[in-house]
Amino acid sequence: MKQIYHFNEGNTTMKDLLGGKGANLAEMTQLGLPVPAGFTITTTACMQFLQQDDYFEQSLKEEVLKAIYRLETETGKSFLADSSILLVSVRSGAKFSMPGMMDTILNLGLNDKKVRDFARLTTPSFAYDCYRRLMQMFGDVVYGISKEQFDQILQKFETTFDKAPSYFSLAEQQEVIKAYKQLFDKQHKNFPQDPLEQLFTAIKAVFQSWNNERAQVYRNLHDIPFDLGTAVNVQSMVFGNSGEKSATGVAFTRNPATGEKKLFGEFLPNAQGEDVVAGIRTPQTIDKLKQLLPVAYSDFIDYAKILEDHYKDMQDIEFTIENGKLYILQTRSGKRTAQAALNIALDLVDDGTITKKEALLRITPTMVEQLIHPIFDPAELKSAKVLAKGLPASPGAASGQIVFTAERAKELHEEGKKVILVRQETSPEDIEGMVVSEAIVTSRGGMTSHAAVVARGMGTCCVAGCEELIVNETTQTVTCKGQTLIEGSTISVDGTTGTIYQAELKTVRPTDNQNLQRLLNWADKEAKLMVRANAENIQDLSAAINFGASGIGLARTEHMFFGEKRILEMRRLILAEDETSFEVALQRLLDFQQDDFYHMLQTVGEKPMVIRLLDPPMHEFLPTDPQTIQQLAKQLEKAPEQITKQIAQLHETNPMLGHRGCRLGITEARIYQMQVKAIFTSAIKLTQAGYSVKPEIMIPLVAEEKELIEVKNSLLRTIKNLFEASNVEPFPFEIGTMIELPRACMTADRLAKHADFFSFGTNDLTQMTYGFSRDDIGKFLPIYKEKGILTQDPFQTLDQAGVGKLIQTAVKKARQTNPNMMIGVCGEVGGDPNSISFFQQAGVDYVSCSAYRIPAARLACGQAAL
Ligand code: ADP
Ligand code: MG
Ligand code: MG
Repeated sequence: MKQIYHFNEGNTTMKDLLGGKGANLAEMTQLGLPVPAGFTITTTACMQFLQQDDYFEQSLKEEVLKAIYRLETETGKSFLADSSILLVSVRSGAKFSMPGMMDTILNLGLNDKKVRDFARLTTPSFAYDCYRRLMQMFGDVVYGISKEQFDQILQKFETTFDKAPSYFSLAEQQEVIKAYKQLFDKQHKNFPQDPLEQLFTAIKAVFQSWNNERAQVYRNLHDIPFDLGTAVNVQSMVFGNSGEKSATGVAFTRNPATGEKKLFGEFLPNAQGEDVVAGIRTPQTIDKLKQLLPVAYSDFIDYAKILEDHYKDMQDIEFTIENGKLYILQTRSGKRTAQAALNIALDLVDDGTITKKEALLRITPTMVEQLIHPIFDPAELKSAKVLAKGLPASPGAASGQIVFTAERAKELHEEGKKVILVRQETSPEDIEGMVVSEAIVTSRGGMTSHAAVVARGMGTCCVAGCEELIVNETTQTVTCKGQTLIEGSTISVDGTTGTIYQAELKTVRPTDNQNLQRLLNWADKEAKLMVRANAENIQDLSAAINFGASGIGLARTEHMFFGEKRILEMRRLILAEDETSFEVALQRLLDFQQDDFYHMLQTVGEKPMVIRLLDPPMHEFLPTDPQTIQQLAKQLEKAPEQITKQIAQLHETNPMLGHRGCRLGITEARIYQMQVKAIFTSAIKLTQAGYSVKPEIMIPLVAEEKELIEVKNSLLRTIKNLFEASNVEPFPFEIGTMIELPRACMTADRLAKHADFFSFGTNDLTQMTYGFSRDDIGKFLPIYKEKGILTQDPFQTLDQAGVGKLIQTAVKKARQTNPNMMIGVCGEVGGDPNSISFFQQAGVDYVSCSAYRIPAARLACGQAAL
């Protein structure tokens, strides 16, 4: 099988085999762009190599040799001989971009002899700059000798010679190289002088970097499969570090933070590749290049446009200018903030580049969640004390305690603290600490620095290059304007404006994103499923309506029995030993609830609202601690011992399987009747006031057809009396049931005879199907995941094989009896994008989720239909 493709043999569709970088280098070569010649070793070869020790020697080496000879011919230079020197880079590149997670080595081919020739042909400072970089990268990638150790050596010489490396004499340069070699020796390692040995070792090391720890963490984080492998690109070098007419840089064809259609990038004059991304020197903005190197700049503008038009998407382009001539070294779909992704997708629709359907697929539900992320309360911002300002690298707003290392971030996060990672700059090793941080702040580096790119990818708020901050990682302090903060100090970070505040600030949710509305309206048009909300308090109900809920799929009524005054009446009711006190309590609860329902129904208006009658077991309303029992005894004028005895009688061994749901509605019908009376009295009042309402009453935890008949008849009697007593025309209402027990699923055809609608309560249904207690799964789930027994929490993502099967069966049976009944899903998984297409296939009519998940669910429903 072909294991190596030269750049003129591949194309962008070959990402599986050539990796993203390789496939696009090939595509750009085919497009005629100035890409330095090279070849790509496939991901398949990588996986073979990782599985078989002698694979390289046995099956790959010969092909690499042939490819190098061909590259020598293509470039007219020589990798092996000492004349006309060809140097190459060895670059990792997987199918999915994993910025900086794997390794790359530049300037391969130099050795003690060739560097002298190279110095003669160019300049000593340039030639030795390349050689030093090679030794450092090689030492780091191949042998794990840290970069800092090399840096320390160089710094020592800078001090001794009292000048910058570019002014070192030849002899001085060679001394540095000698010291670098001693560092290799100290670690009992050898820096190979033979270019081919350098190349082979580098290729193997880059293959191996697929499995380094940070790459693994990154893959877990982004759900990238572990068996893809990385391709390796071997490419002839061009030199951005070869003088004042040379430079290296990165640019996005649009602003990756806002999406604005304007070239956005940075460059460093006289520098090589990684200097820009590593945030070592703060780079200049791309428009400065126009004055400095106008020809290269205008070429770049042309190529950027060609690339964006070709890929029909915003591109992230790496380039290098050698002596005024521009080379393109990489292009990919640029990582962007959610806001930018949205704005770019809409712009591309508006200018006819992509269709609305394509736009819907360019945005992920997670991005939509980020778009409605909290922002700082504008009222609080007015008086907040600004600590410093940096670059708005990744939007969002977060408060937390300062930490200075990734390890501390992890430790404090595990203690349940909110942390903000503050560093000079981040590097790929910090990834785990970055994941758990609420925000990331760096004092160095630009908008394309590691911190900025990774934070945008994760949707974490980030302020980069905040140069006013003096971060001292050794003393673990950060100083700003004469003031010093230590670990644990609270700050607030606004990644949208780049501002850091010295206080904890309250956040609020943005709701009026016009572009998001536009996109979600397109999604609604495609969608087969509707989205309702799980909400009961007025604030959530109106948020849900604002977010475009087509109704309320679950309003729980439990909360109406809590709160100081209400719970007293509820307790009076539960503990009543005579009719009078029972009726008194019931009447008072009725008054409370009537008022509640009035406002709820008024808020929701003509949209349907499913109201679930009381569900939890009675003892949840009773106190447990002696002090509260004492107090309650006084309030109810009863003996504490009596109350204690009654509480003991209500105790249940297995409350989740106990006296709850419709079982309560049957043993004590007056509570459900009271609730329904409250609902319909309010609804009648609202109708008289000219409102339209559509209450849907839901009976929980039905397992048996006769349970449903019994409760329904009792409710219908109450409702009929209320309509008769008032003069209003009866408005439409429904009585349905929650399907949350396996038995209800299996007998859904029978239940459907008596129900106007069904709603799957997936939380209980999962609990009852798996026999996993929702409240205790945390004790064993981590181990189950570690052992691969479960890959996901079934309470977060639907268990399609088990619970899903029950749902499919129930929908099918229900539709046999009642083809037109509304069927919804109102558990946690209703808002899970991964579960939504399953529900669509199962024939469900709507999903219902918490108010803030509605926008993401609307998009997911639109996508599921495409
Ligand atoms: P990453 O995936 O981490 O971005 P790359 O393979 O793209 O790693 O390389 C890192 C840096 O080295 C990039 O800035 C790139 O432009 C530069 N580089 C890679 N190959 C060459 C080359 N042949 N000539 C000049 N610079 C190069
Ligand atoms: Mg790159
Ligand atoms: Mg339930």
